[in-house]
Amino acid sequence: MMNNLVCPHCSHSTIHEHFCSNCNKVIPIKALSYFDVFQLSENYNVDMKQLDTKLFELQRCFHPDKFINLSIREQSISLNNSALINQAYKVLKTPLLRAECLLKLKGFDIDKEEVPQHLLLESMEWRESLEVSEDERSIRQLLEEVSYKENNAYKLLTEYFIKELYNQALSIYIELKFYTRFKLEIINKLDLINDTI
Ligand SMILES: [Zn+2]
Repeated sequence: MMNNLVCPHCSHSTIHEHFCSNCNKVIPIKALSYFDVFQLSENYNVDMKQLDTKLFELQRCFHPDKFINLSIREQSISLNNSALINQAYKVLKTPLLRAECLLKLKGFDIDKEEVPQHLLLESMEWRESLEVSEDERSIRQLLEEVSYKENNAYKLLTEYFIKELYNQALSIYIELKFYTRFKLEIINKLDLINDTI
């Protein structure tokens, strides 16, 4: 996917991915998606070991120290490449961000999706229980409850992505966003309580 590149330094077309085959200078990464940055296929299941190995390789390739004596242009290209690699890594490593990225690639307009009524009701109930929970034990219980739902949702999400049921995957993604946010609220409250003790 990264072939037919034109070198920005010498204008030769080059077959190499990261460095020009003619002048040997660094070339901006031209990737179609975050998956493409790591040459992974667009799947929800990502081999984390492979991802880490590839990250290490790429980071070495574009390490700022390697470019310190080179032109500003090359330094800037390598910095941009590094930033893209780090961003892509963060997205691919984080299940919720990875799901979001995949759904966007499948053409869903995630930000315009509405939260279903049942989820709104459920979250209202949860917020109420969190508000009235003042002791660590009951807050932890709530956290366990949400974590349990979250785990089940991730299992479903994986299954839907494997079966290429993207509409269903989207519904679960919206639920998961909710659980994640609520978990943070619970953890914040736990921290507050522990701080005051
Ligand atoms: Zn070149």
